[in-house]
Amino acid sequence: MQYINGLWIEKGSHSFASLNPATGETIWQGWAADASQIADAVAAARAAFPAWAALGYEARLAIIEKFKALVDASREELAVTIARETGKALWDAQSEAAAVVAKLTYANEAYIERTGTRSRTSPVGNAVLRHRPHGVMAVYGPYNFPAHLPNGHIIPALLAGNTIVFKPSEQTPLGGEWMVRKWEAAGLPAGVLNLVQGERDTGIALAAAPIDGILFTGSSATGKALHKQLAGRPEIMLALEMGGNNPLIVYRVSNISAAVHETLLSAFVGSGQRCTCARRLIVPAWDKADAFIDLLVSSAGKLTVGPYDETPAPFMGPLISVKEADRLLAAQEKLEKLGGKVLLRMKQLRPNLPFLSPGIIDMTGVQDVPDEEYFGPLLQLYRAKDEAEAITLANHTSYGLSASVLCDDQAVFQRVSQHLRAGLVNWNRQTTGASGAGPFGGIGVSGNHRPAGYYSADYCAYPVASVENDNLQLPEKLPPGMTIG
Ligand code: NAD
Repeated sequence: MQYINGLWIEKGSHSFASLNPATGETIWQGWAADASQIADAVAAARAAFPAWAALGYEARLAIIEKFKALVDASREELAVTIARETGKALWDAQSEAAAVVAKLTYANEAYIERTGTRSRTSPVGNAVLRHRPHGVMAVYGPYNFPAHLPNGHIIPALLAGNTIVFKPSEQTPLGGEWMVRKWEAAGLPAGVLNLVQGERDTGIALAAAPIDGILFTGSSATGKALHKQLAGRPEIMLALEMGGNNPLIVYRVSNISAAVHETLLSAFVGSGQRCTCARRLIVPAWDKADAFIDLLVSSAGKLTVGPYDETPAPFMGPLISVKEADRLLAAQEKLEKLGGKVLLRMKQLRPNLPFLSPGIIDMTGVQDVPDEEYFGPLLQLYRAKDEAEAITLANHTSYGLSASVLCDDQAVFQRVSQHLRAGLVNWNRQTTGASGAGPFGGIGVSGNHRPAGYYSADYCAYPVASVENDNLQLPEKLPPGMTIG
């Protein structure tokens, strides 16, 4: 179903379905938007823009507060919806639902702090800074956080006075629809937020429409495709939040159990389907390196994998689809053929369903390893001879999203981290689970220097600088060569 100008429309170009990956059952069936619906959604957002922008910050905030309260009141329902559609464990989905509720506090703080109004006297008049919304923003969602990540663009964009056309991932249309129904219930005026469902072609058509910005979260391949599609349209605000090939360096830690705990969370939370998941574990030589790796491999082998509603709760669920699970298994095979040594084999646990056990493969010394994001529970190990080699290995990627260093000595962290090229660099903390109080984005092919998180406010508004004088007067001294009269 599309949601256009305040109406739910049950038709489109073709129907498609969303499956519960844990069972293969259909949990949502609906229509992909056709070309005229995409045009209508953009036109509705365009028509709603002036009034929404003019409504004022306080009135917009009140509606967003209402949305937040409604989501908070149905948090568990949202968590179950996410878990059913993505397969993630319920505790993991509950943390996503909590992040949706928490977003407004940070977004509001950032809006005021980063895009507020300032005024100071200057020799030429009052120098005033204000911020204005861009207009119609197209928001693209990924499947792995179907609620939290689109919401991370939508709330700051609405707060700033933009209107929206939202296209959820075709793998999570149900989660997208759930969120839009809450906006409707919160009393958002018709046209301010529109929903178009569909696959890649819907995304391409939306990017071709007369919009003012694209707020995208997804893979680097899609981000690059959008970047290319927008070539020659510099007026479009493009914020790209993309993938990573993230390093985790573990060196000279006294508590190897704690290091294993952070490593498991970094590599395997959400079955490795987080953009910040550690893909490459880098271990410089130190006296406990072998003990750490042995404990990691044995503990990873004991992680439980199951449906979200299983008792006792599993650590991780299935991947989003059998296609993705096959892709991961093929990646493991490829890495092995290149010379990787499997320390823990990733296996398909149930026939015809995308449940994969965690895998760890030692790629030390292997040449020409593809610089790819394997979006699943597959961790590559690289042993380094020392700190310097660890830094070189960590930066041996075109991505730059997240990185972590686990080490006792702060001086080691400072030495290493100043060389790491990534937008998120943690110390003694997993690569995943970033704080909403900070910006969230990467460099390289992980982003285009428009981080989300706390800095979303920046791409949702443009600055207008004014010099203002309340009294128009002739200056005492005219410029040479000028006479008046
Ligand atoms: P994806 O790139 O396949 O899809 C994202 C969205 O783009 C979907 O709505 C999809 O329909 C649409 N799309 C696909 N091809 C398109 C095209 N050519 N033109 C326009 N739109 C198109 O991503 P995904 O598989 O849903 O999500 C997983 C990816 O997202 C991973 O790479 C992950 O690292 C990344 N991710 C990044 C962040 C971040 O904040 N940096 C967060 C979560 C996920």
